[in-house]
Amino acid sequence: MKVEEKRTYQAVIGLEFHVHLATRTKMFCGCRVVYGDEPNTHTCPVCLGHPGTLPVVNEKAIELGVMAGRALNCEVSERAVFARKNYFYPDLPKGYQISQFDEPICTGGHLDVPVGDETVRVGITRLHLEEDAAKNVHVGESGRMHGSVGSLVDFNRGGTPLMEIVTEPDIPSPEAARATANHLKEIMRAIGVSEADMEKGQLRCDANVSIRNLDGSFGVKTELKNMNSFRFVERGLARELERQRDILDSGGKIEQSTLHYDPETDEVHELRSKEYAHDYRYFPEPDLMPLKLSEAWVREIEDRMPELPDEMRQRFVEEYGLSPYDAGVLTADRDLASYYEAVAAEVDPKQAANWISGDLRSLSNESGTEISDSGASPEHMIGLLQLVTDGSISRSAARDVLGTVFETGDSPSVIVEREGLSSVGGDELSGVVEGVISANPEEAERIRAGDKKVIGVLIGQVMKATRGNADGGRVREILLQKLGS
Ligand code: ADP
Ligand code: ZN
Ligand code: MG
Repeated sequence: MKVEEKRTYQAVIGLEFHVHLATRTKMFCGCRVVYGDEPNTHTCPVCLGHPGTLPVVNEKAIELGVMAGRALNCEVSERAVFARKNYFYPDLPKGYQISQFDEPICTGGHLDVPVGDETVRVGITRLHLEEDAAKNVHVGESGRMHGSVGSLVDFNRGGTPLMEIVTEPDIPSPEAARATANHLKEIMRAIGVSEADMEKGQLRCDANVSIRNLDGSFGVKTELKNMNSFRFVERGLARELERQRDILDSGGKIEQSTLHYDPETDEVHELRSKEYAHDYRYFPEPDLMPLKLSEAWVREIEDRMPELPDEMRQRFVEEYGLSPYDAGVLTADRDLASYYEAVAAEVDPKQAANWISGDLRSLSNESGTEISDSGASPEHMIGLLQLVTDGSISRSAARDVLGTVFETGDSPSVIVEREGLSSVGGDELSGVVEGVISANPEEAERIRAGDKKVIGVLIGQVMKATRGNADGGRVREILLQKLGS
């Protein structure tokens, strides 16, 4: 039998991100950065590219770039230079984009990305600053250039601060690419560098992909352009890898190309190569001085940097004794994390974690109401958990109370009082248990004889008799005590 040699296919992926910076004004002029306003209401001679105007660097943008770089473990350059990238397009009135070329503000970092149960370290090649182009609006039924009757240009976006982040080609799968993108987004939001809202186009991603040659060297790569959803990054890459595999399997060669992934048809199309010809004639921007980024200034920025998601997750594990999973859930969202911290300061941190990551988040998800917009303030949560801890209400009653608190904002003790949810305890509970024992002599006898499996039946009867207002653990204790088991 002929054993066919099996080729293994190892994917190699590198990502390039464009991130809108959360500054108040544009990169080189004082125009406001605003989304969704009337077209061409935030423009001036500088961002419209009028001759004779001069750019002035937005210091805040540099600061945010440095912050992002440090969060990605990059080295901040002592000297950085802006460069002109020359090309013609209607959304670029100057005929060049001010960007950075061979002296970017940050280089050589890395990002540790959780992918399933593993952590993949993704190298960061560089991070640089530039200005965004204006926005072309295609008029016609489709809203796209194809099939439109004309195109308009909205210069509100022209000149807004943009950061480009380029990773090393060491992402091993489409799944890891998606996780990398998600992690990067999480970090940018957490440190306030960008809102990174993909629907507003504040975060966009190009994905480069190839299949490693049999000798381990890199294969020819293709590039999937401008994906605005991480789900599509994953799906597009999977689809493109399949296409490359098919070509290699049939003995063909991969051609370097720039592609567009269409999620509707799940297909990749080649873009006209001329449009992406890399002949930008970069040269240093003569109207801007090289940036000097002193160590002292960088340190000062670092000191002002908020806690990173990874650091916060680690702290939650150590400080509150949470599992890495729970810590991950609670720190995935800054608001949720501070909510948790407010509650955990007053009650048992693990109990708080269970209630907040479980019941409270379910209520929020089911109702579509943000926790901060609900009636369940941290103070109410603390009050509720104290009632549970001191045995005033059963856990199942507490769940109902939380639902009411969430909806109405009434305090837990008021709700408990109003709805008669106080736990049945003490002599009263003891009496109920005795009643249940005499009503179920057979089960009681079996428990006395050491068969504890049936105890659940009796607990159920007690709960029924108290309409759920008893603590299950306590009922069990009393039953075992009375049955001498
Ligand atoms: P280009 O000259 O086409 O811009 P770069 O070397 O600047 O290519 O890399 C651009 C992106 O492509 C980076 O994210 C890099 O990690 C990635 N990349 C480079 N080579 C490969 C490859 N063989 N396979 C997959 N990605 C790659
Ligand atoms: Zn302007
Ligand atoms: Mg490049």
